Formats: sequence, C-alpha cells, structure tokens
Amino acid sequence: MVVDVGSGAVRRIGPAGIPMSKVEDVFLTHFHSDHIDGLGELLMQRWAGGAHEAPMPVHGPTGVEDVVAGFNQAYLHDDEYRVAHHGPKIIPPHGAGAWRCVRAAGRGQGVVVLDVDGLKVTAFAVSHLPITPAVGYRFDYLGRSVVVSGDTVKSANLQKFAEAPTCWSTKP
Ligand SMILES: [Zn+2]
Repeated sequence: MVVDVGSGAVRRIGPAGIPMSKVEDVFLTHFHSDHIDGLGELLMQRWAGGAHEAPMPVHGPTGVEDVVAGFNQAYLHDDEYRVAHHGPKIIPPHGAGAWRCVRAAGRGQGVVVLDVDGLKVTAFAVSHLPITPAVGYRFDYLGRSVVVSGDTVKSANLQKFAEAPTCWSTKP
C-alpha cells in the first residue's frame, strides 16, 4: 500500500526493501503535483517488474478519475512498446496503468475504500484549503491502526478518525 506518490517515491520504495511489483494499491490524499508526479513511474515499474495482469487500483477523492485517465493516456504508447519488446507473457497487455478509481470523500463520515483479508482502509475528509476535496486514510488491521493525514491542518474530523477505537463504516 502506498499513500501519495511524489517523484521521490519510486526511488525510496526499492531501497526500503519493498519490491515495486508487490505494491497492491495506491491511495491519493489530494492532487498537488508533489503527491502524484511519481504515479506514472510506479505504475510502470509495478507492471513491468511483476507481470501483473490487472492494472493498479488507485483510490482517491473526487477527481481521481481525471488523474488516472491522464496517466493512462500519457503512458499509452510506452505500454505498447513494452509489450512489443518483451512479449505478452512477461508484460501482460491488460496489466498496464491504473484500472479502478474509487471516489472517497465524505464530510464527517468515513468511506471504506478497501476491506480485504482483515485490512480495512477508511477515507475521511481533511482540511487543506483551498484544496478540496482532500482526504486522509485510516488503516485498521488486527486490532491496530495507523492514520495518514496528507497535508491537512489540525481538524476535528482528523482527530475523530485518529482517536476512533474501531473501524468506521459507510453506513449512516
Ligand atoms: Zn498539498
């Protein structure tokens, strides 16, 4: 799981001992360039290095569909070059780019954007004015949790989700 993908992200993930091919999901807090300008490289490294047959899921607030579509468009030709050069067994054509974009916002309410194998990821609104929407993410797993706030200032909603003892639900 990677939260935000600035241009330095790909240079730091490998040395941290995490193969790029093992990245399963990307979560974007907002769309300032320093939070997204490494996304294309991460998508390419993950695909080319892992023979993935499905594109990377990218989660984010409303507007993430524009970001994902833009990166997919920008890499369209290189995706074709890679398949032609290495062949579809090493570079499965359908694994390029990003395939799913989940809108995550909500004002006071959390939105569960991923719930798999005991891991629950909840997006919640944060304050990064004038940038809106902007979200933070809470990861709950095996009774432990971590919150990534993005570029927010201190806010009651951030405090609420950071202090919550249990997972939040999309149900009202
Ligand atoms: Zn920002």
